[in-house]
Amino acid sequence: MQNPIYKTKKTKSNILMIALLSIVGFLALFSTIWYIKNKMELLKAKQLKNNGIEILTLMDKKYKSQLTHNIKYTFIDYYVVNFNLDKKIVKLVKEKGVNYFVNNKNYKTYKGYLTITYPLKDIDGENVGYYIIFENNKNLNNKEINDFIDDIMICSFCILFVLGIILFILYKNKSKIENQRRYFEEILNSTRDIIIITNLNRVMDANKAFFEFFKIKNLQEFLIIHYCICDLFMEEEGYLSKEINNQHWAKYVFNNQNIEHKIKILLNDKTYYFSVKVQKLNNEDDELYTVVLSDITQIELYQKELEQLSITDELTGIGNRKYFNENIEKEISRAKRYKTPLSLVMFDLDFFKKVNDTYGHDVGDIVLKEVTKAVKNLLRNTDLFCRCGGEEFMIIMPETPVIEASISAARIRKHIEELQISPLKQITISIGVTQLINEDNIETFIKRVDDALYKSKYNGRNQVSVL
Ligand code: GH3
Ligand code: MG
Ligand code: MG
Repeated sequence: MQNPIYKTKKTKSNILMIALLSIVGFLALFSTIWYIKNKMELLKAKQLKNNGIEILTLMDKKYKSQLTHNIKYTFIDYYVVNFNLDKKIVKLVKEKGVNYFVNNKNYKTYKGYLTITYPLKDIDGENVGYYIIFENNKNLNNKEINDFIDDIMICSFCILFVLGIILFILYKNKSKIENQRRYFEEILNSTRDIIIITNLNRVMDANKAFFEFFKIKNLQEFLIIHYCICDLFMEEEGYLSKEINNQHWAKYVFNNQNIEHKIKILLNDKTYYFSVKVQKLNNEDDELYTVVLSDITQIELYQKELEQLSITDELTGIGNRKYFNENIEKEISRAKRYKTPLSLVMFDLDFFKKVNDTYGHDVGDIVLKEVTKAVKNLLRNTDLFCRCGGEEFMIIMPETPVIEASISAARIRKHIEELQISPLKQITISIGVTQLINEDNIETFIKRVDDALYKSKYNGRNQVSVL
């Protein structure tokens, strides 16, 4: 199969699983990073309590009047009201501005310092300034952090390990499915039968035998010209057509598995015959069918040859009595259904026994063949000419009224009368002609033409009688 078009349920669940795992993995990683970040800040803040800290107390400028006058306060957007503050801290705050620190609701690290800001409120709850706590990172005891990071590392390793195992199992599973797929593909390609997968609209996939039969490399090449193999079906009785009883041919075959179905295909001026089997695929997404075509061209041609032989007269090569019986029945029902005229002509060689007796049976055979050939040349393609007995012949003339049939019969009689078949001086025939009437069945129709022929014989032979 060149284009695997249907996925197994397993492959689908694997894809879902990988997608789910990717999302879970991503969420786990994201949460871990977020968790570490917050945990570290929390740990650092906790340790502030146990270590030396620098607190910067800031007072809003509108409270200037309440500050002691004889001290010179540092002013950085706000008045710095605490003393003996590390000059580095003042420099830092000047560099960044107070807002950089106070806008931060939680913690902030800046140039090796961890800062925490608390608003200063008066008894009415109005904001009068801020406490900003500065702690040098170097002072922090990192043991707890390191322990925590170790925990995280172990957890991450475990998660990665589990993920690795899952991915390994998935990979193994996938290659197993892939091997299975190749195995089945080889089976499908090893058969000489053509296997097609169709959604009833077009060919979806096919095996190697299909591409070899159409002498193409891939499905696209086929689809450029045809959508369906039914484009190549030759309409003929006994063979599938594109639609049967308003049903798609493949669906019809699937619904009627108890009978044999055949198709006739014309490809590059050569006729092929296939037997057809259709199965529905167990596929959730699409209505798919597997069509198996087995080449029966040789058998079919042989069978046709046998069939042809069974309805052909060995001596003259025209239809025999079986052929006559099959066709007269068909033509009578057709004429009755479509209300078209149908005529029947019967002739018999006059004094033929004498020919055999005089010249021998072999000459008699030659005469039969020559008469057949001559009559055949005077008939239309639609006329059905048969040898029904020793030297008795029938001509079924569809869509022909009796007038036309009797004219033809007269022409035939005259032509045979004038025919030169050595060593015979002359051979003549007597003819009976009749037309189908509504009340007729096969027996009455044949009886009437037989009577007409008898009339010709009775009246002196070498003549045409119409009844
Ligand atoms: P009539 O004008 O009344 O038809 O006379 P007839 O001699 O043609 O009629 P009859 O039925 O008596 O003879 C038919 C002869 O046809 C008898 C038979 O030997 C011959 N015949 C039948 N089939 C064959 C055949 O296949 N080959 C040859 N050579 N003769 C055949
Ligand atoms: Mg005869
Ligand atoms: Mg006869």
